[in-house]
Amino acid sequence: MVSNQMYNKRTKIVATIGPSSWDKDTIRKIIRAGMDVARINFSHGEHAKHSESIDLIREVAEEENRVVAIMADIQGPKIRVGKITKPIELARDDVITLTLNEADGTDNIVSLPHPEFVLDIAVGMRLLLDDGNLEFEVTEVLPRSLVCRVILGGVLSSRKGVMAPNAHLTLSAITDKDREDVEFALSKDTDYIAMSFVRNPDDIRELRWLMRHLGKDAAVIAKIEKHEALENIEDIIEVCDGIMVARGDLGLEVPAEEVPYHQKRIIRLCNKLSKPVITATQMLSSMVESPRPTRAEASDVYNAIIDGTDAVMLSNESAAGRYPVEAVETMATIATIAEQNIWQSRSPGWSTMSQKTGSEAISDAVSESTYYISESLNPRAIVTTTLTGYTARRVARERPRTPILCVTPNETTYRLMALVWGVYPLLVPDFHTIDEMIDVITSTAMKYDIVRRGDTLIIIAGVPFGLGGQTNLLKIHTVE
Ligand code: PGA
Ligand code: MN
Repeated sequence: MVSNQMYNKRTKIVATIGPSSWDKDTIRKIIRAGMDVARINFSHGEHAKHSESIDLIREVAEEENRVVAIMADIQGPKIRVGKITKPIELARDDVITLTLNEADGTDNIVSLPHPEFVLDIAVGMRLLLDDGNLEFEVTEVLPRSLVCRVILGGVLSSRKGVMAPNAHLTLSAITDKDREDVEFALSKDTDYIAMSFVRNPDDIRELRWLMRHLGKDAAVIAKIEKHEALENIEDIIEVCDGIMVARGDLGLEVPAEEVPYHQKRIIRLCNKLSKPVITATQMLSSMVESPRPTRAEASDVYNAIIDGTDAVMLSNESAAGRYPVEAVETMATIATIAEQNIWQSRSPGWSTMSQKTGSEAISDAVSESTYYISESLNPRAIVTTTLTGYTARRVARERPRTPILCVTPNETTYRLMALVWGVYPLLVPDFHTIDEMIDVITSTAMKYDIVRRGDTLIIIAGVPFGLGGQTNLLKIHTVE
C-alpha cells in the first residue's frame, strides 16, 4: 500500500541489504527513509541469511504500509584466480602464468580454474585483475596456460577477479551457482532477478527458460556491464523487464571515462522503450565512511535523475558502510530536489519519437495527452488501471508533475511498480466494468487518504479489461 509520504519522492531507491542493514531496526529506518526496492546480492552471503533478510524486509514493509520489491542480484560468470598462498608483488614487465593446472602462486604461477574462459583468450589480449588494479598482456597461449607480461603492477592475492575486455567470451551466462541461487530466489518469490554480465538477448532468454523449467517466474533486470551488451543494447532492452547501468564492471570493460556517455545513452533508450532503468554503483561511495556525500556524488545522483533514470542504487553504502540510513536519506533528499527541476529540461513527446503503429500508437497518444492534460488541469493524480503495468510505464516516461497511481488487481504488477519512476501502486479487488473500476479507484484511494471529495483525477485504462497492451480510454473524473 502507499501512505501519504507518496507525494514526497518520485525517484525510486534501490538499496543493497547486507551486514550494515539487515537488522530489523535498520530495515525499518531505511524503508522510512525511502527504499523502494531491496537488493539481495548473491555474490556474498548464504541462503539462510538471505532468506532471513527477505522475510524481515517483507514483514517491516507490511507493518509500515509500504510496497518494497525484492531484487535478487545473481553473480553471473565472474572469473577469479584460485588460491594464492602468499600475495605476489608484481612490477611492470614481470612474467606471470595463469594456468588450469593446480598452482598456488609459487614462481609466479597462479591457478585460473575456468577452462571455458582460457579457451577464448588469444595472444595480445589485455587482462584486468582485481577491478583493474592490475593489468596483464597475454604473450603466449599454451594448451593449459596463459603466459602474461605485467603492464600495470601491484599485489595479486587469492580469488581476485579477472576480466578480458577485448575477448568475446563463449561461456554460459548462468553458472552452477547461479542456477542454485535462481532456484532459491524463486522459492522466496523475489519480484526481480538481476542478471550479471548479460551479453545479448539470448542470455536473458536462457534465464527465462531456466525459470520456466523451475515452474516459476520473476521479472528480469539486465545488468549492463559487458562491452557486448553495449553493442546489443536495444535488443536487450526489448526482451528484459528493466536495465541496470552497472557502472562498476562496465568501467573496467570500457574506459571509465566513457561510462557517462553509455549511462546517458542507455537511460534515454530505456525511457524511449518505457523500461525501468537503475543507475548503479559508487553513487554515494564516500558515505561508506562519511555521514555526508561529496559534492560530486550529489551531482551524480541529481544528474542521473534529470537524465531520466527511474531509480538510483546503493551498494556498499547501505550493505557494508557505516551510514546506511543516512545514505538512503541523502538520496531521497537529492531526488526530491532534482524532481522539482526535472521539468525544465524534459521535453515529452516520446510517442512521436518512437513512431509506433496500431495499438501502440494509440497507447502512446493517450499517455502523451495525459501528460498535457495533467499540465493544464493539475489534478490530484493520474490513475492508470493496468494488469501488466504497461500503461503506468508509458505515462511515467513523460515524467508528469502529477503523481501516477497504478491501480491493479494483480499482485505481481503491484510489486514490480515499486521500481518505476513516479508510480505509486495500489492493490485493488478485480473489476469488470468502467463503473466498477471508478468505484474501486475512488474507494481505495479514499481509504488510504490519497484523494478527497472534489479532487480531480485523470483515469486512463485499456478496455475491454483483462487483455493488456492497449491504453484506449481517458476519463476526467471528479470525486464525489
Ligand atoms: P555488482 O554489479 O555490484 O554486482 O558488481 C554492479 C556493477 O558492476 O556496477
Ligand atoms: Mn558488476
